[in-house]
Amino acid sequence: MDSQSMKVAVVGAGFGGLAAGLALQREGLSDFLIFEEAAEVGGVWRENTYPGCNCDVPAHLYSLAEAPYQGDVRYPGQRETLDYLRTVAREHGLMKHLRFNTAIAQADFDDKDATWTLVTADGHTIYAEIVIFAAGMLHRRYLPDIPGRDTFTGSWFHSAQWDHRRDFTGRRVAVIGTGASAAQVIPELAATAAHVEVFQRTPTWVLPKPRAQFSRPTRWALHRIPLAHRIYRAALYYAADLVLAPVMTNGWSARPAEWFARAYLRVQVRNSRLRAALTPRHRIGAKRIVLSKSYYRALGRDNVSVTTTAIGRVTESGIQTVDGAVHSADTIIYATGFRATEFLAPMVVTGRGGRVLHHYWDEGGATFLGLAVPGFPNAFIMAGPNTFNPAGSNVDMKQNQLRYIMAAIRLREQSGAAAIEVSDRSVGDYDQWLREAISRTVWPEGGSSWYKTDSGRVTNPWPSTARTYARMTRRDPALDFQPMSLNHPPQHPIEPETGPPSVPAAHPAAS
Ligand SMILES: Cc1cc2nc3c(=O)[nH]c(=O)nc-3n(C[C@H](O)[C@H](O)[C@H](O)COP(=O)(O)OP(=O)(O)OC[C@H]3O[C@@H](n4cnc5c(N)ncnc54)[C@H](O)[C@@H]3O)c2cc1C
Repeated sequence: MDSQSMKVAVVGAGFGGLAAGLALQREGLSDFLIFEEAAEVGGVWRENTYPGCNCDVPAHLYSLAEAPYQGDVRYPGQRETLDYLRTVAREHGLMKHLRFNTAIAQADFDDKDATWTLVTADGHTIYAEIVIFAAGMLHRRYLPDIPGRDTFTGSWFHSAQWDHRRDFTGRRVAVIGTGASAAQVIPELAATAAHVEVFQRTPTWVLPKPRAQFSRPTRWALHRIPLAHRIYRAALYYAADLVLAPVMTNGWSARPAEWFARAYLRVQVRNSRLRAALTPRHRIGAKRIVLSKSYYRALGRDNVSVTTTAIGRVTESGIQTVDGAVHSADTIIYATGFRATEFLAPMVVTGRGGRVLHHYWDEGGATFLGLAVPGFPNAFIMAGPNTFNPAGSNVDMKQNQLRYIMAAIRLREQSGAAAIEVSDRSVGDYDQWLREAISRTVWPEGGSSWYKTDSGRVTNPWPSTARTYARMTRRDPALDFQPMSLNHPPQHPIEPETGPPSVPAAHPAAS
């Protein structure tokens, strides 16, 4: 493959990229390829193979509408979810569109012929009229720069790069981090390891996760009664919007949720010192809420300890905290999350007039609905800024984005324009709405988290309900996009940039 041309290039084959493939097919477009840097589909569900990894959102909602989840459990594990995505790719005719082991390193918009040139990591070029970036938000691992990390003589790895050769039976394991991944893996480790030491920077709010298994009658009904599946999906959707989403805005359910989480902590953790250490100081919802029935129980076990003293360095034999104590370990597991705020990195994306996307974002540049950026014609982003729904299904968010992206592509086709680009006015209006909505949430004052950058800008979560995003993405793109012919670029000129492109600085991590 030296160079290839196509109508639409999709970057990434996780939930987003596969959903984009299905949407393009539905649109009657067959001239597209999906480029994936790994050797198969799956995204986070291919990468996170740690024991205990499973969905936090019931799969009947956390699945594609056109490929209803047919499994028997409420919260399938990593394997089942990955199998689901493999099946979607196979059974919906996407395999012929997939190009694996193809990392896109660079994407440049050519002003003269209104096409995108994508350059792969091994130097091949791909030409596309339209590009959909579905590179994920929680895909690049975050490893904290702890002094001495590489001097450790035992084994160490990130939770998203699990070393399955290790048997922890009778071993001492240190886990750094207490986010969603840590909360899933710690109970599994605690069941076999001699000792698990958990290094906690910030305690997390925990709510009990409903039982994974359905009762037999429910299972029967979901499989046999016409519409039961759809009614259950709709019920989950509305429940998330009506009950969970208001937690993020300190709305009606925030106090009952926090009260319930406190009561749950009291019941689960009898040791008052441990309970004090596990009591969050931020409002519920300010960071990702952990859903688990086994996390607190695991932390209360005799072979598990929680260290809240800050880590000073890693030594040859373990972790030294700032008080000088050395905590020896055979293995250190970094459950330290992802570089969530570095959207699309390390790709270098250059738009019209040489505008570099990361420079634009570094300077506080805004998006439209998290999916389009002024100066980047014919380019769409999935899992872009402020599109992570912490109170619902992120697959649903992607399906809304795709409805809008397909309408925008249709607009381009119908207008006969070489390119379409979102207007500055629409971006400005949307950003004003977004900033006001964020100011009503519990995130701005919630301390550091993967929801925001080091400077405190809330860049990742969606600040409203799923229904609001659905409504906004039903809007006619003709109101917000302007067609652009080759000889007549849009009205807002872009000063060419000078200097080398950069990726944004490292930010707190998600787990
Ligand atoms: C452990 C874990 C559990 C989660 N559980 C839930 C849940 O229960 N409910 C929920 O709503 N959300 C959950 N999420 C959030 C999750 O990120 C989204 O729901 C969704 O799966 C993300 O899909 P995606 O396609 O946007 O990104 P990803 O799954 O990250 O896929 C992106 C793909 O793009 C590829 N890629 C990236 N860059 C390039 C490049 N330059 N060139 C080529 N390919 C590239 C990657 O290899 C990857 O395969 C979870 C996340 C994690 C990490």
